[in-house]
Parts: sequence; structure tokens; C-alpha cells
Amino acid sequence: MASREIRLASRPSGWPVPENFELVTAEPPALAEGQILVRNLVMSVDPYMRGRMNEGKSYTPPFQVGEPLDGAALGEVVESRAPGLAPGATVTHRYGWREYAVLGAREARVVEEIPGVPLSAYLGPLGMTGLTAYVGLLDIARFQEGEAVFVSGAAGAVGGMAGQIARLKGASRVVGSAGSREKVTHLVRDLGFDAAFDYHDGEIREQLAGAAPGGIDVYFDNVGGDHLEAAIDELRTYGRVAMCGSISSYNATEPVPGPRNLGLAVGKRLTLRGFIVSDHPGRLPDMVAEVGAWLREGKITFAETVVDGLENAPQAFIDMLRGANTGKMLVRLAR
Ligand code: NAP
Repeated sequence: MASREIRLASRPSGWPVPENFELVTAEPPALAEGQILVRNLVMSVDPYMRGRMNEGKSYTPPFQVGEPLDGAALGEVVESRAPGLAPGATVTHRYGWREYAVLGAREARVVEEIPGVPLSAYLGPLGMTGLTAYVGLLDIARFQEGEAVFVSGAAGAVGGMAGQIARLKGASRVVGSAGSREKVTHLVRDLGFDAAFDYHDGEIREQLAGAAPGGIDVYFDNVGGDHLEAAIDELRTYGRVAMCGSISSYNATEPVPGPRNLGLAVGKRLTLRGFIVSDHPGRLPDMVAEVGAWLREGKITFAETVVDGLENAPQAFIDMLRGANTGKMLVRLAR
């Protein structure tokens, strides 16, 4: 049986280009005892994958040149040598970037459809994306009811969830930044943000001060750089930052400078705390229960930008880094 997969052809220097990827047809290995064969239906492209394309030590091992990439995917079990996991089940797992995946049954999470919610939600609000927003806001930034929250990258997958969770948990004000007028409209109209701005439209600090006139208590940082610096200026005493990502520098070829105003953290008694979602699997059931209920009740919504075909996955990944997506960027591999 033939299965197409995307391999890393070479390590990007700066922005990735299509030549860094190759499409290869390979035969999946025969199933060993305890393994399943999954036909992938949809896969996720994520900013963290850019870091794994570099050589060197990080919190996850780098991708290897000549080897298939991996990442979250959702698919249907088509063959099984694992008792208790029969063909027909829908699962998520970490072997995306290929049409068929062979994996241990214990590496798969069986998911059930929620009426009215597409199964792809398990790669977004009910998966790693939702958990990142949930843990970052509630556990890392220790958000409390009545506080004002600023989310950068707010029209992206994690940002859109972080802002909505803050709203549903009783934020006094939720402010978001994003990269286009359409995204700003989406934040206020569809996701219920109180205010939003396009970071291309002028000084971020000034725009943030205008959108959150009383200052902010929590900053959910997806971007780093100039956004982090602006947030430090606008944070109130005892403010907290959940350092989730710094996408503004993922393709930098030189080290980027830190915020010039970090000294303010002392007088304002700020907490800036980084986190990695995979350290918090124990919070998945809480997140799925709470976000799942909000989805069923129509209190939370999410956008997806879907690209068709495995062969278009590298370009979808590159485009996501440039902001082509609203909500989660996904690649559909089969129907
Ligand atoms: P995403 O936000 O859906 O997609 C990336 C977005 O980043 C783009 O759509 C683009 O939107 C924005 N962007 C790109 N360059 C930018 C720049 N220079 N300045 C401002 N915005 C820029 O991706 P995601 O999966 O939800 O991830 C969001 C962040 O969370 C990333 O930093 C990611 O690394 C991080 N993350 C962290 C963890 C963790 O465990 N800590 C887990 C998942 C994700 P615009 O059009 O608005 O520019």
C-alpha cells in the first residue's frame, strides 16, 4: 500500500521555503502486535514546528533531514492489531504529515463527535490548542475574575481561545491584537473581544493603551518582541505574563533583543512565566469538559483555515507563519 509523506529535505535558514520539504511515496511498515494503521483525514501545522526544523537542542528533539515530519493529526483506524481499538474508531495522534500512519494503540486518543462540532476541533479547541490557552491563562497567568486581559496573536488558534476563555471566566476587559483589519473585526464580532487593533496600524503601546485605558492585569504572549515590550508598559502592579510563544522571532537569523523596559518588572512586581503545554497533560480532562460544554452551548466559537492536500502542507505551514490563517491552520488529507 502506498502512502505519501512530507520529509524535511533541508533545514531552513530564516524563512522556510518549499525546497526545504519533499513529497515522497513510501510503504507503511507491517503492523506489529499492539499497533494500528490510521488513515489520516486532517493534520495540523503549528508554529513550534519551525523550531524543530533547526538543528540543536530544544524542549523537543529536532526533525531529521531526510525523515518525515510529524505533528498532530486526526484519522480513522483502518486496521488494528490492538485489542480494544477496532477499525472505524476516530483517533488523534502525533504522526501527521503523512497519509497513513502506523502507531502504537497507546499513542492514540480516541475521540467522540460532539453534535454540531466538527471532529477537527480535536486538533484545535479540544486539543493542544485549547489546552495551551486554558493552562496559560488559568494556571500560568493565574487569571482572576474581574481582571483585564491582553492577548497577542489573538486571531490565531491559541489566541482566539485564550481571549474567549478570559471572557467566559469573567474578565473585565479582553483586548486582542492581530495582523489585519478582517482579523480585528473577527475578534470583536465573532469572538466577543471588547476591543482589538491591527499591530501594523501604529505604535503597539499606544494602540494597547487606547484599547485598555485602565491598563491590563494579564498578558497572554504569543508574539514576544515589540508586543511584550508594550504589554510590560501597560501592565498594572502585580501583573502576570503567560509567555506562550514569540512568533515574531521564529525566523530570525540573529538573536533578537529583549524588551528594553524589563526593569519595570521590579517596581510593578510583575511575573513573567514561560510554559510548555506538554508539561500539563493532567489538565486535558478539565479543559475538554469545560470547553466542550461551552462548544455544545454555543458560548465559544472557533475559526479554521483549511488547505486541501498533503502536497500543499509545506505551503500551508509557511503561509501560517505569515498570518494567512484565521483560527487554526489545518490541512485536509482525505474526506
Ligand atoms: P496561530 O496563532 O494560529 O498562527 C500564527 C499566527 O502568528 C499567524 O496567523 C500570524 O497572525 C501571527 N504572526 C506571525 N508573525 C507575527 C509577527 N511578527 N507579529 C505578530 N503576529 C505574528 O498559531 P498557534 O498555534 O495558535 O500558536 C500561537 C503561539 O502560541 C505561537 O507563538 C506558538 O509558538 C505558541 N504555542 C505555544 C505553546 C506552548 O506550549 N507554549 C503551544 C502551542 C502554541 P497575524 O496575521 O495576526 O500576524
